Amino acid sequence: MQSKIESLKKDTLTALEKAKTEDEVRELEIKYLGRKGPFSDLMRGLKDLSDEEKRTVGKLANMVKKELELAVQQKYAALETAAMDEIVETEWLDVTVPGKKPQMGHRHLISKFIDDLEVIFGRMGFSVAEGPDIETEHFNFDQLNMPDDHPARDMQDTFWLKNLDKSVLRTQTSPVQIRYMEAHNPPLRIISMGKTFRKDSDATHSPMFHQCEGLMVGENISIANLKGVMTAFLQQVFEDDSIKTRFRTSYFPFVEPGLEVDCTCPICHGEGRLPDHSPCRLCKQCGWLEIGGAGMVHPKVLENVGYDPQKFTGFAFGMGLDRMVMIKYRVNHLRLLFENDLRFIEQF
Ligand SMILES: [Zn+2]
Repeated sequence: MQSKIESLKKDTLTALEKAKTEDEVRELEIKYLGRKGPFSDLMRGLKDLSDEEKRTVGKLANMVKKELELAVQQKYAALETAAMDEIVETEWLDVTVPGKKPQMGHRHLISKFIDDLEVIFGRMGFSVAEGPDIETEHFNFDQLNMPDDHPARDMQDTFWLKNLDKSVLRTQTSPVQIRYMEAHNPPLRIISMGKTFRKDSDATHSPMFHQCEGLMVGENISIANLKGVMTAFLQQVFEDDSIKTRFRTSYFPFVEPGLEVDCTCPICHGEGRLPDHSPCRLCKQCGWLEIGGAGMVHPKVLENVGYDPQKFTGFAFGMGLDRMVMIKYRVNHLRLLFENDLRFIEQF
């Protein structure tokens, strides 16, 4: 009998040792120490024994049962401690560790520049007009005095849209002017800025680029007004009051006369040489920079939008926005503006 108790004790302790979860311990507790377990059987069998044996065996059985009950409780406690240890180990949180700083971004150089232009032109009474990137032939060419067979349509290698009849990615921001004039009566002063698209792609051309255009229409508007606005604008954008402008005659189908707008080089201030007498590379030592095109709005364009060209005149100008950004911020490659390389962007 004693040896049976001892072996039961051994079995129970071995099984307990192997148990890994509370549920397993509970099963063992029921299996060995429960009412239908071997210990209960053993106790019930005591009645067949002699008084002497009842005492010794009963005492031993009780002692072992208590021992095992204690072992079960200890196993529960050990499992709980192990679980806590694991939580401490895996869910450890040090609230004193310095936080990770989120990377702060900022607006792209071109977006900031567009904001600057809005402020400068805003001070001169120009409001901002916007239009779609996808334009119809009507707004992009026809209304700008460029009929079907006009050579200017070839000059601007255009992205025509396959599935949208007579539609293009706008080659200039001028269609915004047409849209605005068709919806408003003079006098008016607007600028339109944004993305434009042509099939150019080389060191100095990108198929997507940005333009800034302006339009002023009213009574008695002359080239003198154009010159005043251009000069004031360029002085403010390059933050240099000494900047002068000059016009050279040119041709654009939607203006008459057409003009190229130059300004004195903001790097060498028109000297062609830097203070240390080295040659200015930006203006190639000539002291002037070509900055955009302009002119007096062609009477035909005014007529197209329903204005009376006898009564109203106006000027329009257009400039490559990216080139101005490059000049102002001394960026030497156009593609740097569009690559979105953080090493470049973070410098501004
Ligand atoms: Zn220069």
